Amino acid sequence: TGSQWNVAELEGAAHRHLISPAEELAKLGTSGGRPLFTSADGIHVRDSHGRTLIDGPGGMWCTQVGYGSKPIADAIAAQALRICYNSPWYSISGPAAELARRISSFAPGDLNHVFFTTGGSSAVDSALRFVQFYNNVLGRPTKKKIICRIDGYHGSSHLTAACSGRAGNRPNFDLELDTVSFISAPNIYRHPQGKSEAAFLEFLVAEFEERIAALKPENVGAFLAEPILASGGVIIPPKGYHRRILETCRKHDILYISDEVVTGFGRCGHWFASEEVFDIVPDIITFAKGVTSGYVPLGGFVLSESVLAKISGENAKGSFYTNGYTYSGHPVSCAAALANIGVIEDQDLLAHVREITPYFQEQLAKLRELPLVGDVRGVGLLGCVECATDPTSEAATDFDRQVALRIDRQCYENGLVVRPIGSMCVLSPALIITRPQIDEMVSILRESIVRVQ
Ligand code: PLP
Repeated sequence: TGSQWNVAELEGAAHRHLISPAEELAKLGTSGGRPLFTSADGIHVRDSHGRTLIDGPGGMWCTQVGYGSKPIADAIAAQALRICYNSPWYSISGPAAELARRISSFAPGDLNHVFFTTGGSSAVDSALRFVQFYNNVLGRPTKKKIICRIDGYHGSSHLTAACSGRAGNRPNFDLELDTVSFISAPNIYRHPQGKSEAAFLEFLVAEFEERIAALKPENVGAFLAEPILASGGVIIPPKGYHRRILETCRKHDILYISDEVVTGFGRCGHWFASEEVFDIVPDIITFAKGVTSGYVPLGGFVLSESVLAKISGENAKGSFYTNGYTYSGHPVSCAAALANIGVIEDQDLLAHVREITPYFQEQLAKLRELPLVGDVRGVGLLGCVECATDPTSEAATDFDRQVALRIDRQCYENGLVVRPIGSMCVLSPALIITRPQIDEMVSILRESIVRVQ
């Protein structure tokens, strides 16, 4: 199989899976039938049984340039040998400084100050801590509540998990910070009133305004949102949603944080989706995942100059900003990110994604005709096939979730990894995917759905 790992031995070992039924947590030898991937190349992964599969979710929405990129691997090795680490508290890293310059050059508007962290959760967590700091320095210590959305996902740290509204992640992790307030997901497919897109937009904006009024604007510091709710099921808001929400934020001096951990770095055909796809220049953009194509961990946030100016220089009033990790902007990660950006540019992958997106979306949309499929949606190289055996139901049923699991198993047998999230099969393949590979991926998905139904 080419694997140096003994699967039988690993089954009995100490490694615990991050997502597990609790009854299995204390048992050894319960990998839950999860695959062991041993090598990968391009858009494919190979498992310990020697099977080659298309990686539908692209790792976890992160393998932009695909597996096995020599320029990235070489950059990692070279930086590790040159200087593997420097303290980000005490010293400066060349790769981090250069990467910040590159990221600020393609971030929208005056978002040109970059703080690095270690991944997506720490990026969002740090952005939220910045809002806290900002309002304290401005002398308005009550302005700290965060409004976010049901079905949003922002991470696994204490605060970012509290800001994540996916119901499945919450039971028994029930820290209810009264700092966090949830509004509806902009999910037209499951919207109970079955309204038109325009009416739904008015409903969502009114709900946001009412919530701010109820909390009082002087208590609300930030609105936190993914441009497209990724883990929530590739939920695409009605046209104009982000712009209207941003206008409301501006009215009440609330900072808008656009969580682009998934949508950034080419996933939607642009470095960031906020401005190019959704027509907004937020105050803060968070990023991670695709910044290194998943080769090594890295995250961060880009901050607007005008926001930063309000609390720096004379406005700082002697305050001191401290927020960072030992591995914030790790030099090896930043070197990998620079090489990753180089590959995206050399292969013109942003243009490739824009060119191939309509084909990808058209092919996926054809699956809507299958009886088990309730909805198909997507933007860029992000797609979701939602199983809905009862299209009139306002929520996914247990049966729908079982169907998605069975489709996932069948896809695996047929050579495609699909990552079911509840009743949804999501796809976010590497950006290098070609038309024939899209055909193959969608045809495996189709055959698997037909086999299950
Ligand atoms: N934000 C979004 C939109 C995400 O999808 C994720 C992870 O999936 C995160 C934040 C957290 O990122 P990480 O898992 O790198 O901490």
